Amino acid sequence: MVKRIGVLTSGGDAPGMNAAIRAVTRVATNIGIEVYGIYDGYRGMVEGKIQPLTRRDVSDILDRGGTMLGSARLPEFKSLEVREKAVEQLKKFGIEAVVVIGGDGSYRGALALTEMGINCIGLPGTIDNDISSTDETIGFNTALTTIVDAVDKLRDTSSSHHRCSVVEVMGNRCGDLALFAGISTGAEIVITSETGFDEGEVLDRLREFDVVKKKNHALVIISEKITDVEVFARKVSQHTGFSGRATILGHVQRGGSPVPADRILASRMGEKAVDLLMQGIGGQCVGTQSGNIVGVPIEEALNMPAKSRKELQNLFDRLV
Ligand code: ADP
Repeated sequence: MVKRIGVLTSGGDAPGMNAAIRAVTRVATNIGIEVYGIYDGYRGMVEGKIQPLTRRDVSDILDRGGTMLGSARLPEFKSLEVREKAVEQLKKFGIEAVVVIGGDGSYRGALALTEMGINCIGLPGTIDNDISSTDETIGFNTALTTIVDAVDKLRDTSSSHHRCSVVEVMGNRCGDLALFAGISTGAEIVITSETGFDEGEVLDRLREFDVVKKKNHALVIISEKITDVEVFARKVSQHTGFSGRATILGHVQRGGSPVPADRILASRMGEKAVDLLMQGIGGQCVGTQSGNIVGVPIEEALNMPAKSRKELQNLFDRLV
């Protein structure tokens, strides 16, 4: 049986990663498995930035955002030579298996390492909710809460000024943050890569909200990298009765103390990762499906189609 495992965080950080590190460390050490922290993702693995983690080392991190292990990107990890260096380091430290907390890029690295004889299990740590093999990713609910808090505040001030708030949120390939925030805040319009963006049509709809529906405020939530929201807000001012104001929420969405739902999700997933490694399983990622924690082969997970949001999009449309 595996005696020593490593844990790392990779790619973009997400609130709840610390809760996952803690769960892996506590569950493993409680059954006599040694845990090593690998700092700064795959970069630290290659460079040997590796240290033992005791149960005390993960005290007082459950409520902290970010990741105590640091995160980094190392595009060179795609090269076999670089991964061979990483495997050498792991062998030097006696690490037989690794829990990788990150997004789908990190999963690819985990799969490649598994194929080289180091069993790896992936945990979905990303605020974007863009991993098809799990209903929810670690960090999504916290980021959503941050967005909803900010938008609620914007609405208070905007409705006093006949304003149209155009709020840019994170999540480009996956519009869940925008759509879920739109439903939660009663937005008038949500624009994501799934809905597409027809500027003329959006301006027409805003004029209708103003002239026909007599709304004194309109809220547009838009995923990042779809359009320049500052420019779009100016067009709102020029072509509709609203005064358009853009707000780019930016990196505040990644920060903050994880909400309980993320702490629980991260703890359950961390436990599952250790259990899978103890069964000698690698090359899988952990997800929730209909409330159950499951292990899914990474290869299968990476090839799954994006989750359909038709039902939620219809709900949104019926609520406006
Ligand atoms: P995320 O994990 O959040 O999707 P990235 O796509 O940046 O973030 O991936 C994180 C890291 O995973 C990369 O910097 C790289 O070290 C590693 N990685 C990404 N794709 C691959 C791949 N195809 N093979 C091996 N490692 C990869």
